[in-house]
Amino acid sequence: MTDEELWRTGIDALAREYRALPSPLRERVAELAAQVKEAKLALHDCVTAVDIGAICADCRGECCARGKNHVTVIDLLVSLVEGRELVTPFFGHDICPYLGANGCLMAPPYRPFTCIIFNCDRVEGLMGKSEKERLYEAERRLRAVYGEFEKLFGKRFMAGLLIMSERDLVLQGSTLLGVGNRAIKES
Ligand code: SF4
Ligand code: SF4
Repeated sequence: MTDEELWRTGIDALAREYRALPSPLRERVAELAAQVKEAKLALHDCVTAVDIGAICADCRGECCARGKNHVTVIDLLVSLVEGRELVTPFFGHDICPYLGANGCLMAPPYRPFTCIIFNCDRVEGLMGKSEKERLYEAERRLRAVYGEFEKLFGKRFMAGLLIMSERDLVLQGSTLLGVGNRAIKES
């Protein structure tokens, strides 16, 4: 399957599986999704508090050269919970498929975990001790919420949608969320 086909297969399955979740589980997903957004915004805020504009413009987005597998099921669930339109990737070029003419196609609260926690040395070098502590604390919070998602479904989600789509849906004929009795019981 091409990347486009894996993407389409994955998001169709995820939307279907999400809609089929029992109400208590969906409510818990919505709570965690709100926490993900809050932590991602806090991380973004730490970075915008220092002036990265000139550095990033000079570098021309080196950290967005590759990102095909960065978007995970959890990142997408945050949009699904809100009924928000999902990002439309473009796989026809040799850079990140979620990169548009004006930067990432996803707003900071919806950006992939891997991307939102990444700061290169040049950016971290602009931060003082207290700014770094605030950044690390927000990252810890975000990691903890992703961990809660994985506990809830009893499944690892960090592999990225395209990988999970191929492995779980195409090769194993299984599901993305792998909802089972355990997840329902714990919701
Ligand atoms: S965060 Fe660092 S690597 Fe990414 S665009 Fe800015 S300067 Fe470049
Ligand atoms: S998903 Fe967005 S932030 Fe992440 S690498 Fe791609 S363009 Fe950059």
